[in-house]
Amino acid sequence: MLASSAMDHRCWLACIDPACGAKYDVFEVIYRCRACGQLLEVVHDAEQLARHSAAEWKALFDGRIRSTVWPFGSGVWCRKEMVLPQIDDENIVSMYEGGSNLFWAERFGREIGLPDLWVKQCGNSHTGSFKDLGMTVLVSVVKEMRARGQDIPAVACASTGDTSAALAAYGAAAGIPTIVLLPRNRVSLAQLVQPIANGAIVLALDTDFDGCMKTVQELTECENVYLANSMNSLRLEGQKTVAMEIVQQFDWQVPDTIVIPGGNLGNVSALGKGLLLMERLGIIDRRPRIVVAQAENANPLYLAYQRGFDRLEAVEAKPTLASAIQIGNPVSYERAVRTLREFNGIVEQASETELADASARADRTGMFNCPHTGVALAALLKLRERGEIHADERVVVISTAHGLKFADQKAAYHEGKLAQVLGHYRNQPIELPNQLDTVREALHRLIDLEQGGSRVAGAGQ
Ligand SMILES: *Cc1c(COP(=O)(O)O)cnc(C)c1O
Ligand SMILES: [Zn+2]
Repeated sequence: MLASSAMDHRCWLACIDPACGAKYDVFEVIYRCRACGQLLEVVHDAEQLARHSAAEWKALFDGRIRSTVWPFGSGVWCRKEMVLPQIDDENIVSMYEGGSNLFWAERFGREIGLPDLWVKQCGNSHTGSFKDLGMTVLVSVVKEMRARGQDIPAVACASTGDTSAALAAYGAAAGIPTIVLLPRNRVSLAQLVQPIANGAIVLALDTDFDGCMKTVQELTECENVYLANSMNSLRLEGQKTVAMEIVQQFDWQVPDTIVIPGGNLGNVSALGKGLLLMERLGIIDRRPRIVVAQAENANPLYLAYQRGFDRLEAVEAKPTLASAIQIGNPVSYERAVRTLREFNGIVEQASETELADASARADRTGMFNCPHTGVALAALLKLRERGEIHADERVVVISTAHGLKFADQKAAYHEGKLAQVLGHYRNQPIELPNQLDTVREALHRLIDLEQGGSRVAGAGQ
């Protein structure tokens, strides 16, 4: 019964300022409120959703996730009623996103006195970051709008990495032209190669990221081009499913603490939104604590937290290894503060050495972390040392991208070539002539092959 009930549900766009109260159709091309200029958010008819019991919703999601019934196998679209009920299944552009591994970080957790530590591997996804969760919704809406006869010849974004990769891939899968604006000579090969390979129109502009952002916004105002950047609230609807998926993966139990890296702060807002909807529907009955981790080089939320969230003071973000969160003036600041107040939130920061070391140290226990995950792990280490996170807590760290996107940076860490970083967990290849004796000699210097393989003290890091 429930499976065919998507048509009963609906959502709309609403101004985030309750005093304004303006509402818009979800398939309208609009990014900010026309009445007051504020951001918009997708609001669901919670009363209608609440007509089904929590048990019914859980059974529905358990039956759908990772199944082969289009489009419900996706971790996003198995929750279609709570994401975007009005869309035609034919117009959904999905690459089976979500359903990523929730990794029990047993060894790393034991090392830091936190045996119930988990890492949600959102980077194990089609384009290698959690941006897929949001982009499937945005591109699907564009496909639906085009099918309804709206004139949207292309979708554009300004991005130095994961957003452009996701937009280019989903656009290519749907046959919708995409345009990526990025700062010339300031993005790595890995960041450039995904949109190039997926056939996006890539414009490398003589400016920085903020310059690209300004231009893309102006472009979408004067041309028939749809804007895919973070003020577009549709993406958060997909991203909020990470909260639902984590709880589902714990057999509907809520963890104690969730640590998430934050830049523009859309993702933490989405996390909170998913949790609150589950609470409203009785799927969960308590709230986890949320920790946002920022790079010290781009820490406006951390600074505001130190001042009791009096107000946002934009900072000039300095370069950080965690390039996706090098943001000084976050779009979703207000949303994030609301979320942190609702979830007993903490904000912590990490220096370049702290984030690179935390990432490398966790890699030694079998992970392969991106620098943003490094920021989250470094924040976790600090909170654990200060006793703000207790040994018996169940903690989930949200890993936002795949480490392979940052292979150059990780190699530079191990070579000791990163500015601002003193690498404490470096590991280097040992170059030798191809002679058995030399190889054996070297091995005996490094590892005790008689005593169960323990590393010889001081050797090879
Ligand atoms: C986008 C992104 C973030 C930051 O998410 P916000 O919503 O901007 O806070 C963190 N890590 C990675 C890898 C990202 O791509
Ligand atoms: Zn408004």
